[in-house]
Amino acid sequence: LDPTDENLSPIDLDIEKKLRPLTFDDFTGQDQALENLQIFVQAANLRDEALDHTLFHGPPGLGKTTLAHILANELSVGIKVTSGPVLDKPGDLAGLLTNLDERDVLFIDEIHRLSPIVEEYLYSAMEDYKIDIMIETGPNARSVQINLNPFTLIGATTRSGLLTAPMRARFGISSRLQYYTTELLTTIIQRSAGILKMPISMEAAIEIAGRSRGTPRIANALLRRVRDFAQIKGDGNIDIKIARIALEALHVDAHGLDEMDNKILTTLIDKFKGGPVGITTLATAVSESSETIEEVYEPFLIQQGFIIRTPRGREVTEAAYKHLGKSKGPSQGG
Ligand code: ADP
Repeated sequence: LDPTDENLSPIDLDIEKKLRPLTFDDFTGQDQALENLQIFVQAANLRDEALDHTLFHGPPGLGKTTLAHILANELSVGIKVTSGPVLDKPGDLAGLLTNLDERDVLFIDEIHRLSPIVEEYLYSAMEDYKIDIMIETGPNARSVQINLNPFTLIGATTRSGLLTAPMRARFGISSRLQYYTTELLTTIIQRSAGILKMPISMEAAIEIAGRSRGTPRIANALLRRVRDFAQIKGDGNIDIKIARIALEALHVDAHGLDEMDNKILTTLIDKFKGGPVGITTLATAVSESSETIEEVYEPFLIQQGFIIRTPRGREVTEAAYKHLGKSKGPSQGG
């Protein structure tokens, strides 16, 4: 199970859309962030102004895209969706910006991956709602400034550290999303099961929630797979027994760690005596990019207390040895 979207089939993507909360009331968790956002939205609505530019950061699958849609919905405005890697020419961005109605939302996913030229171009749009566009070509080419409707840029990033300082400074609102507790994920699973009309026991919902890596996207993905087992191997109801059989078959472990999480911990212990080891060395050893390790795997392993970051690199904790059933070898020496 990949916590990022990329491997979802069209059917799964369709279901994911169906499960997406549409209003603040539908959205579970992230209370602190939500409370503030509700106030900002109410104030913007009251003044009939565009909401301040808003940045969401945090690991994949925690609800950044969902919140962007909710904000547009609660502002009663339209939303246009794009992403950093897709927007590679200023012209494409100009096309999007000039088509925004007053107070509309432009959502840019993976905003840390904008090209420097496009990013630069975005600055004046964000700041003064103005852009320069080139008209005509050849010797007659010249740039003219045009006014845009006031709009809200919502950016999402898994790596706020990679955002340039001028970009970051242009967001009036910035919100970091947190991993979800088992309790919150249980609520999300029950809601999703309700929408998909799948009978599920409380126990089964808790079991799936506990193994979802703190991530709603994974919780929903596991729920869909467990449903397959319930329909083929059971009577269609998701009870604790069928949930356990399914999760076992899917190789999801008790903490929700996936194969790569486990590989990282095992490698740290077996090859590097538990660390500390630098991120690049670790990445090479597990054949994954250091970027993906830093943005997808490491935050959860740190949050769960399985690894710590030290000035000299990553180190596993006692809890990791225990989780993997390994013993700490002979003294590691200096
Ligand atoms: P991100 O943009 O952070 O990668 P998404 O917003 O795409 O994450 O969320 C992934 C899926 O998880 C969505 O389809 C949505 O159904 C579900 N989801 C995320 N956050 C919540 C939440 N707080 N409550 C219910 N479902 C959620």
